[in-house]
Amino acid sequence: MPKLNQGDQQRRQVLLTLIVITFFGGLFFGTLNWIRGITAAALIEFGFALFCLGAFWFVRTSRRLYRWSLAVTIPWILAVWLIVSMPAAAESVFIWALVLPILLMLLLGRRPGLWLSLVSLAGALLIALYRFGLPQDADQIAYTANLVIAGLAIVALSYVYERSREKAEQNLRHLAMTDALTGLPNRTLLYESFARAKALAVRQKTPLSLMLMDLDRFKEINDEHGHDVGDRVLFQVAELLRARLRRADLVTRMGGEEFLILMPDTDLDQAAALAEDLRRRIGALRLEAHDQPVQLTTSIGVTEMTSAEQSFDSLLRQADQNMYWCKENGRDRVRASRPGATAARNDPAG
Ligand code: GH3
Ligand code: MG
Ligand code: MG
Repeated sequence: MPKLNQGDQQRRQVLLTLIVITFFGGLFFGTLNWIRGITAAALIEFGFALFCLGAFWFVRTSRRLYRWSLAVTIPWILAVWLIVSMPAAAESVFIWALVLPILLMLLLGRRPGLWLSLVSLAGALLIALYRFGLPQDADQIAYTANLVIAGLAIVALSYVYERSREKAEQNLRHLAMTDALTGLPNRTLLYESFARAKALAVRQKTPLSLMLMDLDRFKEINDEHGHDVGDRVLFQVAELLRARLRRADLVTRMGGEEFLILMPDTDLDQAAALAEDLRRRIGALRLEAHDQPVQLTTSIGVTEMTSAEQSFDSLLRQADQNMYWCKENGRDRVRASRPGATAARNDPAG
């Protein structure tokens, strides 16, 4: 399975790199200022280097990357402003301000990155104007214009870059969670969705049901009509499920010819009725394969969560047992029961 949090991994790398650069920069400028006798600045720089040493340790494993990014970038912005405002600094230190948009965009994402970039650049520019006054001659105007335009270009380019990176990551996530044949979510999403649906059901005291559907004798359909017809049948079943179920229901292809449907706010009786309706509809699907109608039936096991202690696996096991009961009792049927219950709906013996 591809890593789904790639953005975090990239951000961690960028942040660690920044921390290393800042650490050595802090030591270098701290020493320089110490020698020049600017003790206050030297102490601040040594302090920041020390902070980076600690930050490096935590950022490697921290899950709060965003906060750490802020904790490192905000002092960076303030440091750039401070440097620009220092009487001893040359005009060229403004170049440091141009590093900020890239850092902010890569570390904070495109929206916060954009706003903070504009704020930090505008701040640096205002401080520089206050210090050096408005540009007087053509040379100074050209110099200022160069810096401003280069700054805006860096903001725009890193914004566009970050946007396409976010889009690429989204596409990757979507691909990783979607079954290519039917377009349905695959089981990757299931645990996450179940946890959310369960939390909601417990909080709102609403029922939560689940059904496991397995197409009957699907191997025979492949054998008789070919694998591509089998594929088309799977797609048609997925279409039917998508069309019949509510938006709140989660339909996933568990793999092969098995589908799992999570139904929030649905009790066992409602879920069993829905399963029965789906079973009938699938039986009535007109599947034209090489001009021969394909007879398709399905077995469905249904269950309902009865306590907040039940795990996804225990519910799945119950649905699976019910589904197997259908297979052993002639297929093309539905069986519904709660975990631990002895009697089941549609169970003549129970
Ligand atoms: P049962 O009624 O007991 O479920 O019989 P079955 O043949 O459906 O069950 P079995 O698990 O033996 O076989 C499942 C078949 O589903 C095997 C495989 O050929 C087919 N299958 C699984 N995934 C795909 C797929 O993506 N496309 C196609 N065409 N067939 C698939
Ligand atoms: Mg199967
Ligand atoms: Mg099957």
